[in-house]
Amino acid sequence: LFFVGVALGLVMIVAIRLSEFRKLSLHTLVERGIQNREFIPYYQPIVDVSSNSLYGCEMLARWKRRGQGLISPMEFIPYVEKSGQILPITDQLIEKTVAEIGKLNWGETQQVISVNVVPDQLEQLETLESSLKLIHQSRLQPSQIAFEVTERKRFTNLAMASQVIEMLRCQGIDVKLDDAGTGYGGFSYIQQLNIRSLKIDKMFVETIGTTDLKLSLLDSIIAFGRKANMEMIAEGVETQEQSQYLAEHGVTLQQGFYFGRPMPFRDFAYYCKSIVSR
Ligand code: C2E
Ligand code: CA
Ligand code: CA
Ligand code: CA
Repeated sequence: LFFVGVALGLVMIVAIRLSEFRKLSLHTLVERGIQNREFIPYYQPIVDVSSNSLYGCEMLARWKRRGQGLISPMEFIPYVEKSGQILPITDQLIEKTVAEIGKLNWGETQQVISVNVVPDQLEQLETLESSLKLIHQSRLQPSQIAFEVTERKRFTNLAMASQVIEMLRCQGIDVKLDDAGTGYGGFSYIQQLNIRSLKIDKMFVETIGTTDLKLSLLDSIIAFGRKANMEMIAEGVETQEQSQYLAEHGVTLQQGFYFGRPMPFRDFAYYCKSIVSR
């Protein structure tokens, strides 16, 4: 038994060392990725189905590592959020986004680009300053940029967040509540932060046409949004049935594979030509 214990202990020490090593090397890889500007924006269309026109897009991060292909944000965003590397990455993404989207003449047609930020970024205006500078220097109007902040993570300083959100709104930049209905804040966030736009999570959209009880949650979120006169964008729309149900319930701003997957700028520019601007 003694030897088994010692052996187990050794295995554990090795395992811990290995996981430390992996963390260390991920940190270095990300650091190098930032230096080599390997983080690139993909764009997913958001469509207004009432007029079949383009409302705008959501920018979604991808990591293009040399010789490795694309890495999904699920694999690095949780880490870089903790390490703080999300800040230079967001700057890099916004810089590329305003340069690329600036080529689309959206200055005239007023489409909106939604950028994901973490709660920390809304609790300290300084963390957004360099991004805001890039936005103000671009060919886009500030009102064409929106930030999406997820409800899945807690805000530590709601009072500060509400001030920052107000400040952004004064500059014309809207803040949307992402993954609405899935996390902590819910309706109290919406009121305390004075949020006027909801992104309804895929988790609810995928219950359309099923007997899942969450379908009644979808209906309540929509009812709430309409009562409170909020803008609502449904995400994860994959089928015509889902799109139609949402439209019939007044949610005409929709995003999902049914309309288009996240894509690199060249494909997105092509997509934009095939659909009327709003
Ligand atoms: P999210 O903000 O909820 O973004 C929507 C995710 O759903 C995207 O995954 C998108 O590709 C996927 N999606 C869109 N339509 C459909 C659909 O019809 N069906 C299905 N099955 N999936 C759909 P993606 O691009 O892998 O991003 C994952 C998450 O990573 C995002 O979830 C967001 O929370 C985070 N993320 C991505 N880019 C950034 C970023 O620049 N900053 C931060 N802080 N987070 C980011
Ligand atoms: Ca989002
Ligand atoms: Ca979302
Ligand atoms: Ca989501």
